[in-house]
Amino acid sequence: MYKSFQGFMALASVSLSVAQGSFHALVGPNGAGKTTLFNVVTGRVSPDRGQVRFHGRDITGWPTPRVARLGIAISFQRAQPFVSMTVLEAVTLARLGYEGKTLVWGRSLARHREAVERAEAALAKVGLEGYATSPVAQLPLGDLKRLDVAMALVAEPKLLLLDEPLAGLSRAERRKMVTFIGNLLRQEGITLLFTEHDTEAVLALADRITVLHQGRVLAEGSPEEIRQNLEVRQAFLGGNI
Ligand code: ADP
Repeated sequence: MYKSFQGFMALASVSLSVAQGSFHALVGPNGAGKTTLFNVVTGRVSPDRGQVRFHGRDITGWPTPRVARLGIAISFQRAQPFVSMTVLEAVTLARLGYEGKTLVWGRSLARHREAVERAEAALAKVGLEGYATSPVAQLPLGDLKRLDVAMALVAEPKLLLLDEPLAGLSRAERRKMVTFIGNLLRQEGITLLFTEHDTEAVLALADRITVLHQGRVLAEGSPEEIRQNLEVRQAFLGGNI
């Protein structure tokens, strides 16, 4: 996979394979190319060279809504645009947006009702069912992260991309979130590709870790292998990854 911006190589020869049902962490310092890789997978950015394959199918350059309907969801990260809504409205809108169909008068009510039901089910999965009528603006950050997950889950993804799901949380909240994400996604059989700077969380959650540095793969392996890899440890595990 190659992607350059105005001659700057954001991704150079990056090859990444995520096993079905696994949790795969993408780590590396800021500017390593993690977001660009996410954007390439979800069709927001077209690679200069290389292919994105999903279940054996070449989806390179597919528009984002089509990628979503194939079963790849990305967390909204901060339900910011939705602060004026209730929690249930935000998740319902995420569902309707994912369906992406024009609402046909007469059929739209039934479709809306179904979207609400799916939104309620997603909220129950993340434990926010008691907050359905609360304004998004009133949720504390930890619950907002759960809402992000619900908004992604409502699309019933096979592959979920989470960009720094623990950012901004306290240490105690991060631990809770790691357990929560782990249990929920394993239960749902969802494949996870995530970025995260919290080393402890990455090692706890990931089955496999890819370390990116300046748009290249510096190392890849199991948490144990990455922990033992001196070069990586010195470069990244000393502080943030
Ligand atoms: P990370 O998510 O690991 O911090 P990014 O993928 O955001 O890394 O960025 C990789 C490099 O590509 C950075 O140097 C960034 O400035 C550059 N980059 C990313 N997107 C763009 C863009 N749309 N235009 C120009 N440069 C970009």
